[in-house]
Amino acid sequence: MFIQGTLLITGGAGYIGSHTVKHLLAHNERIIVLDNLAFGHPEALPQDRVTFVQGEMADAALLDRLFTEHSIEAVLHFAAFAFVGESVTDPLKYYRNNLAAPLTLLETMQKHGCKQFIFSSTCATYGNPQFMPMDETHPQEPVNAYGASKLMLERVLKDCGTAWGLRAVFLRYFNASGCDLDGEIGEDHTPETHLIPRILMAITGEIEAMTVFGTDYPTPDGTCIRDYIHVNDLASAHALALTYLRAGNETTAVNLGTGNGFSVKQIIDTAEQVTGHKVPLNYGPRRAGDPPELICNPAKAKAVLGWEAEYKDPRSHIESAWKWITGPHKGRY
Ligand code: UDP
Repeated sequence: MFIQGTLLITGGAGYIGSHTVKHLLAHNERIIVLDNLAFGHPEALPQDRVTFVQGEMADAALLDRLFTEHSIEAVLHFAAFAFVGESVTDPLKYYRNNLAAPLTLLETMQKHGCKQFIFSSTCATYGNPQFMPMDETHPQEPVNAYGASKLMLERVLKDCGTAWGLRAVFLRYFNASGCDLDGEIGEDHTPETHLIPRILMAITGEIEAMTVFGTDYPTPDGTCIRDYIHVNDLASAHALALTYLRAGNETTAVNLGTGNGFSVKQIIDTAEQVTGHKVPLNYGPRRAGDPPELICNPAKAKAVLGWEAEYKDPRSHIESAWKWITGPHKGRY
């Protein structure tokens, strides 16, 4: 009988990584998490069911030891910095962490003959939308160092494919949101910049008010439209990407979104319905770099991975995030 190897999950103690770990454990995968805990939370992992290693993916000696001691079959690479604004003011931090650091990981994979890689890429690699909904053929012209660092790593992975047979799936996420439905794990960023958690933090009083960034966009209600993809749907996409690679398939890029767009105002209205509370609001100017609309065409994900979003209504995202924020953890580990 073929026994599957171990999965190395970088950034597995972070928001999307930890939800994916939970999903993969339910599918009986064997997992090592490598996380430097810059943003991750060890409490987000069931310590008795995963091997947790605190460390840097640029630490060649550590990586070599992990690949020597374990039969690592594939890497799921989540570890990255993801604050778009910061990437504009401090680009080298992003190129160092999101582009240079994974090179050590890839060198170690090459040395040990590990050739399967699932990469947390992003719709930010596309830059300003040229058509909607956006599919994988959309030109990739990122407008910030965050998107550029992710696009450059996609290129590195392709070149490794040509040179030594690495096969990768680039999962280009749209707007990740929502939390574990059991309320066990959730979204805990410091600082928290994302829309749904900030709306809920304004309701609980953790912040005074939520600021709507721009009400003069060319959209029906003047606020930005985004494609919100539930973190559990991202988790299931990673599992299917693994199945895809295990079947011997070639490198490919796949967008992950629902195909539906919701405005900031619609999300606020839904949060008020779900929680039964008014959201304390301020209205501010547009945030630099925010296009009016970003909507995913998820057709390729269905065709290639057999994946489709299960949680298409952002109501379920808000309900699960509200459960996390009002549950025993109060939204913080
Ligand atoms: N947004 C907002 N106020 C906030 C945070 C976000 O109006 O405090 C808007 C933001 O301009 C964008 C949408 O909500 O149109 C989603 O932003 P988020 O930061 O959650 O994700 P991003 O699109 O930056 O990945």
